[in-house]
Amino acid sequence: MRFPDSDGALAGHLLALFRRLSADAEGVTRPAYGAAESACLRALAAIAREQGLQAWPDAAGNLWLQPPGLGEAPAPACGSHMDSVPRGGNFDGAAGVVAGFLAVRQAMRDGRALRAVALRGEESPWFGAPHVGLRAAFGALSATELAIPRRDTGKPLAWHIAEQGGDPAAAGAGTPLPEISRTSFFWELHIEQGPVLLDRGQPAAPVSAVRGHLRFPAARCRGEAGHSGAVPRHLRRDPVLAVAELLQELDTLWVRSLQEGADLVLTAGQLLVDPATAAATRIPDAVSFSLDLRSTQAATLAGLSALLPRRCAEIGARRGVTFDLGTPVTAAPVVLDAAGRAALEAALPGVQPVASGAGHDAAEFSRRGVPAAMVFIRNTHGSHNPAEAMEVEDFLAGLAALQAAIASRG
Ligand SMILES: [Zn+2]
Repeated sequence: MRFPDSDGALAGHLLALFRRLSADAEGVTRPAYGAAESACLRALAAIAREQGLQAWPDAAGNLWLQPPGLGEAPAPACGSHMDSVPRGGNFDGAAGVVAGFLAVRQAMRDGRALRAVALRGEESPWFGAPHVGLRAAFGALSATELAIPRRDTGKPLAWHIAEQGGDPAAAGAGTPLPEISRTSFFWELHIEQGPVLLDRGQPAAPVSAVRGHLRFPAARCRGEAGHSGAVPRHLRRDPVLAVAELLQELDTLWVRSLQEGADLVLTAGQLLVDPATAAATRIPDAVSFSLDLRSTQAATLAGLSALLPRRCAEIGARRGVTFDLGTPVTAAPVVLDAAGRAALEAALPGVQPVASGAGHDAAEFSRRGVPAAMVFIRNTHGSHNPAEAMEVEDFLAGLAALQAAIASRG
């Protein structure tokens, strides 16, 4: 079978093929360690072999490609993940898989050492945890994680790894697979999941860092219920106005942080009074809320972690309410490799790097001691939904920058 030879035509062909192999009622569904994910990997392996590359799965089921002759030599790798969220878009992960294949095809023609990898199971909805395919390749999955049931089948992760030809024992053995031990650097192309590049009118940008978070998923503020018309201001203990004041302060702090050059995004995604007792004529007795604070800078998150209880105590004392922020959930920011980022900046002159608000395989490599760098591609409508949209021209601009950066680092 003949395939188109230009990068653009081949990328379009592969992305259309992946879409066909995983089409759902809307968007695409490629469950982690599932049949659609495997079908896409098999299709990619067949095309890669047709192009003269070697293709094989590691013991965790991830697909690796390399030029013949590279053997077991250490080399950088380039790729992303093959799975998607349920009814997601076709480009989150798959664009980077295609970029890895095209980069390694070019490396073969140039006689350079590079592998491509299409990872399984990056998205967290399937097993409630992210990066399971990559962590399996690091041998780092715990027995508890291997027993987690997949949301749609109810069967454990270990069962799914075995079903797709992998070895669950190796996934939890505590030592990286040989393919990982040979990986000196990881390069990832990924669609941007926010609107920054659209707003700037730029097709691609280096990624500076993956934001960490300080999250309070179950915060609460308690006051005292009362008649809305009968309680004068100085006798009220109104939790709604107390939370509103806290959020207003955080918003002001956000503006000031940005002016001072810090990176910060914050969201109160849940703000609830009990619907069973809520009424327009009642001062509520309590408000449940959440806070999600993210930054590429550990110091910014540490500062907020120290500040929040103090501000809650001050507002609480003044307004006669009590705040209970609950147990925080935290993740440290991951700053990507400085030299890799510099190489991407040189390939995209005049383009400011963008922070990633979501986790990625590149961050997981970096966390586990393999340096990594990323390039984002402009994308409309965000990600994790069927409307995500990437232009092939933008993809090719990002791919060219990625290839130039890889080549410049030898
Ligand atoms: Zn992704």
